Amino acid sequence: MLDAARQLPFFYGSISRADAEDFLKLAGMMDGVFLLRQCLRNLGGYVLSVVHDLIIHHYPVERQLNGTYAIAGGKPHCGPAELCEYYSKDADGLCCTLRRPCNRPSGFDCKPGVFDNIRENMVREYVKQTWKLEGDALEQAIISQAPQVEKLIATTAHEQMAWYHETISREEAERKLYSGAQPDGKFLMRKRKEKGTFALSVVYGKTVYHYKIDHDKSGKYSIPDGTRFDTLWQLVEYLKIKPDGIVTMLKEICPNASTPQVVAAVPPSLPKNRQLASSSDGYTPEPFNVHEKSRILPMDTSVYESSYSDPEELRQRKLFLKRDDIMMDEEELGAGNFGSVKKGVYKMKKRHIDVAIKVLKMQNENEKVIKDEMMKEAGIMNQLDNPYIVRMIGVCQAECLMLVMEMAGGGPLNKFLTVKKEQIPIHTVVELMHQVAMGMKYLEEKNFVHRDLAARNVLLVNQHYAKISDFGLSKALGVDDSYYTARSAGKWPLKWYAPECINYRKFSSRSDVWSYGVTMWEAFSYGQKPYRKMKGQEVISFIQSNKRLESPAACPIEMYQLMLDCWIFKEETRPSFEDVEARMRIYYYSVANKTEGEATAAAEDMKN
Ligand code: ADP
Ligand code: MG
Repeated sequence: MLDAARQLPFFYGSISRADAEDFLKLAGMMDGVFLLRQCLRNLGGYVLSVVHDLIIHHYPVERQLNGTYAIAGGKPHCGPAELCEYYSKDADGLCCTLRRPCNRPSGFDCKPGVFDNIRENMVREYVKQTWKLEGDALEQAIISQAPQVEKLIATTAHEQMAWYHETISREEAERKLYSGAQPDGKFLMRKRKEKGTFALSVVYGKTVYHYKIDHDKSGKYSIPDGTRFDTLWQLVEYLKIKPDGIVTMLKEICPNASTPQVVAAVPPSLPKNRQLASSSDGYTPEPFNVHEKSRILPMDTSVYESSYSDPEELRQRKLFLKRDDIMMDEEELGAGNFGSVKKGVYKMKKRHIDVAIKVLKMQNENEKVIKDEMMKEAGIMNQLDNPYIVRMIGVCQAECLMLVMEMAGGGPLNKFLTVKKEQIPIHTVVELMHQVAMGMKYLEEKNFVHRDLAARNVLLVNQHYAKISDFGLSKALGVDDSYYTARSAGKWPLKWYAPECINYRKFSSRSDVWSYGVTMWEAFSYGQKPYRKMKGQEVISFIQSNKRLESPAACPIEMYQLMLDCWIFKEETRPSFEDVEARMRIYYYSVANKTEGEATAAAEDMKN
């Protein structure tokens, strides 16, 4: 993951205290010379090293639970850069103000920390084994949910470690450690009976030593008088490279027999608290709750992977579905000019799934034309398979033509944001729009143009999971084509269209990027209508005279800047979805760990 301080020239990464002091000595030990380095004990924390009166002072900068950074007893700041800037103006308790950055010598790159690599691998292992994902589904899960997964790992990962034994007695621990070979550094960790405390048992010289691990009020773990850590696994990793007061460094794991893998970090079963509720008939209702406590990740839902990802179901897969396998409700999810979208259930071989069924209106005089259009839409959807795109299950020709899709029960994004405005913090909007960018990046790679990207066509599975839908206007581009030329202008969503679509009927991924910008505008303004008072023709001249929509209130500047880039007049200079997704991802990761509580307060502020 990206370090928030990576861009700072005076950030050294994971260097030791002694190395930091050497760099400061080389810089001349003037008052106020300073540098920043990574902290090994605190997840996402730093140490600020400052010279004053020829003495080097080291101040730990902690990353707080709400995502802000602070020196103990000092004011919180939104990032390490802001914190350093603050102390350059006001010592506010430090030995002196920060006067001169001790920048990294040329050729010296930030040193990656031990945890930087481990954390990345842990996220991968955790996602892979918890949700049994592989290939693209795995990669997409890591990209879209890394911040949430990191948080999960940080607090509960030790439970998944082979060296972690639930509550076993001291005697039982000794029995385990004495059985088999007893090399120095063979170890295990166990839960003690006293609530919230743990013990580390280590072999040295054929003798087992036990160390109590404290869990203090601020949530830190430590061996009494030892270094304090945010998590138990960090403590173990640290003791693998530094004995830090214990008899020997940790080496070989004494594995817990009930953890199937010795090497892998995570057992293959879903952790208890993340198991999906599922009733006996195999029918899994999609969880949807704005006030959820533990957040449901996209991978926890039944629509993250294709219903056909199971090889047994895949064997059954056909474009045309049997009418008997479809149960259709009277309940209407939405309506369009083609007909309506109804709720239903589709019976698969192994389970029943919730579906949305697009039903063609009957007895229409140009039924044939609409039927063809719907079959084209089905043909497009049939070629797509991505977690951030509504998948088609199949079509069925019975009393009417039906297009059966995955269910996205949260409805269209614009409606959702209008109604739930007060409960949805800005960083959730960022998260959802990042997912839309991931879906669009996939379309761009597959050489499809959507042509109707708008907040009304982004459907929610739940509050934290969006999917792109409505492929009624979409086209697959030819292998060598980068755009599609429409034969004639039709009933078009002009307010979402780039100038070249309107002027030359030319559609490409870059014109979809323009629409993405308008969709972003709709999302960040919580479902407002773009160019509200203007008619289609007025919007065209507005854009032509180089005017653009204004920033929605409370829209982060980074997000408005991205919208403006999506609305670059010439499509050649407009960003691609590859660029858009990268920028959304960086911004999303930087705000993802803000707490919901803080966000609610922010939403309250917005109302005033
Ligand atoms: P149109 O081409 O008429 O815009 P859409 O595909 O956008 O048709 O569907 C119209 C409405 O039906 C949507 O706004 C939504 O409310 C509902 N709908 C469509 N697909 C789904 C789905 N997969 N899950 C849940 N609701 C859906
Ligand atoms: Mg639509």
